[in-house]
Amino acid sequence: MKNLAILGSTGSIGTQTLDIVRNNKELKVSALAAGSNTALLEEQAREFHPSVVVIYDETKWGELKDRLSDTDIRVLCKMEGLLEAAALPEADTVVAAVVGMIGIRPAIAAIESGKTLALANKETLVTAGHLIMPLARKKGVRILPVDSEHSAIFQSLNGEKRDSVETLILTASGGPFRGKKEQELKGMTAEDALRHPNWSMGQKITVDSATLVNKGLEVMEAGWLFDMPVERIQVVVHPQSIIHSAVEFVDGAVIAQLGMPDMRLPIQYALFYPERRPLNIRRLKLSEIRELTFEEPDTVTFRGFYLAMEAAKGGGSLPTVFNAANERAVSLFLSKRASFTDIAGIIEYCMEKHSVIKEPSLEEILYTEAETRRLIDERYGIRA
Ligand code: NDP
Ligand code: MG
Repeated sequence: MKNLAILGSTGSIGTQTLDIVRNNKELKVSALAAGSNTALLEEQAREFHPSVVVIYDETKWGELKDRLSDTDIRVLCKMEGLLEAAALPEADTVVAAVVGMIGIRPAIAAIESGKTLALANKETLVTAGHLIMPLARKKGVRILPVDSEHSAIFQSLNGEKRDSVETLILTASGGPFRGKKEQELKGMTAEDALRHPNWSMGQKITVDSATLVNKGLEVMEAGWLFDMPVERIQVVVHPQSIIHSAVEFVDGAVIAQLGMPDMRLPIQYALFYPERRPLNIRRLKLSEIRELTFEEPDTVTFRGFYLAMEAAKGGGSLPTVFNAANERAVSLFLSKRASFTDIAGIIEYCMEKHSVIKEPSLEEILYTEAETRRLIDERYGIRA
């Protein structure tokens, strides 16, 4: 029996994780946490009977408590609630599926208390990888990737020696705007950006896929997870999203993981690692797919990707600035206060203004995030 604490249970990864739980009697849910969606959280709590639920938004706490007043489920809120859920004694695995760098402190709390971390929340590693990876090693805690590319690499590395790896090959779908040029991108709306060709995901990551920022974040995530310098991580655009990523070995062999795009596979793989369990998803029929194509990413038009590589090479607090600026810019874009092409512009502006801190502490990371946000809001005339 495995006990899960699912942080971000109402989101795309969270609900698909609960799908896996529904189909596996060996999985139990001890804690569920979300940002503000009380209705879905109540529904999930009634179905999965956790001992704790957390709603981050404290103004919703009373409502959720009322909704669950006929149960003995404890209802918590704010960061304290997330931290308690992440360290819950009866849970052995924490599924980190909140969106954004709000996930850093809960991830650290989970590792500190010895939980296995099934990690979807890439922003956490991008900004705090230098704190999280050594901590996980010190605590003997496993970080199992949920992100499909990283799961593919993880699966391709099975049984191989670390020093026989030459490069990691991350595939990218190219998003909804693949092939477009700067002029066409200017007028793209949130509705356009949210129409991803292959994956149905949360809004923020879907916009990140459209800007290619997602792939930049994933290069940094792979760097931390697999201890690989970014120079040895290649990105190739593969619009069919069938090859989920690959590893090239020193003898020239390339091992990849293939399958129809469905996040339930990497989620389940992380939950049962090293075991494989049956999973009822669409099977890959190569003769029906017929064609797999590949191309170089357009890093001139999709400047967000180029900036991510600059942030990765700069290191220190620069990835935090890159990520925090992107989080804020995407939220401004989704609320129609910034255009699609403003996203990369905002990130670049913040990176230029920043003086890099070499090995930022957790406090310095959170301070850098707040400062980056302040800089953007000041420039856009947005009051806190
Ligand atoms: P969604 O936007 O669909 O879901 C986000 C989840 O986080 C929701 O449950 C949301 O709650 C919760 N949340 C947001 N803010 C807070 C907060 N302050 N405190 C607690 N919970 C919060 O995102 P996704 O599921 O798409 O993505 C989650 C993470 O996984 C991201 O880091 C993403 O990059 C990564 N990922 C996602 C993939 C996918 O296929 N979706 C693939 C690979 C990685 P509420 O509903 O109440 O707002
Ligand atoms: Mg991915």
